[in-house]
Amino acid sequence: MIHEIAPHVFNNEFKIADPKPTDFIIRYDGAKTLLKKVDGGYAIPHVGELLALEKKSLADFEGHYLFSIDDTAFFLDDSITAKSADTASSIPAGYEYMGNRTFRTMNPVERLGGATATHIAHWESLNKFCGRCGNVTIRGDKERSIICPKCGNVVYPRISPVVIVAVRNGDKLLMAHNIDNPNPRLFLISGFVEVGESLEQAVHREVMEEAGLRVKNVRYFSSQPWPFSDSLIAGFTAELDGDDTIRMQASELSEALWVNREDIPEYETDVSISCCLIENFRCGYTP
Ligand SMILES: [Zn+2]
Repeated sequence: MIHEIAPHVFNNEFKIADPKPTDFIIRYDGAKTLLKKVDGGYAIPHVGELLALEKKSLADFEGHYLFSIDDTAFFLDDSITAKSADTASSIPAGYEYMGNRTFRTMNPVERLGGATATHIAHWESLNKFCGRCGNVTIRGDKERSIICPKCGNVVYPRISPVVIVAVRNGDKLLMAHNIDNPNPRLFLISGFVEVGESLEQAVHREVMEEAGLRVKNVRYFSSQPWPFSDSLIAGFTAELDGDDTIRMQASELSEALWVNREDIPEYETDVSISCCLIENFRCGYTP
């Protein structure tokens, strides 16, 4: 899964630090991140190379520390605004603003680091002004927070809980395709947890809403951060309870069906918990 990067070590302890030229720099325009074109894809630029391109020194750097992976830090560039990022002249040759799904094409360190950094950048971009009084906010200097100096309102990073569930019916797995997912492959039933419900209640509700099915024996499987949608995903397994007739929610899904274990293709398990749950079922590990 995306957070499993051993032997590399992710260190997200809050601190204030100065950059090294070899650290990564995240220049975020409110929707996309400036990435360097490399053979066959994209890479996250380093502080030193972007400063050199712009004929600046480390002393000119405007940005703040986010976290480190091993000895390399990720810094968020504070010099850019959505308006200035829009002008073509501000984009160096060989660079391009790309959506956060591009990080999924990178090596494990840049994939986790880039996606997590843009998760933080997105949160910061949405909280430039206080939601209570409208004053300009500042970043906290003791923890990862945004503070309103006028009314004292404190905002923490937005992490929205999501549940995903592998529902089995004997040797069959409930698989589905979400209408918003550009990937045409079948995955599992999932959805955001609603206010006032537990993770398990969210599992029951989502399966009923999206497939019209009852489930029992809901068991926790594992969890993962999912920075692409500012989420934390909790994975579960469950068994069909009663009638197996699927009543698909067409506003959410384009397909929902029971798939026999032997008809499920192999899924890569290096990024998503969804694929891990499917692989566990396919390989017969699911209890
Ligand atoms: Zn305020």
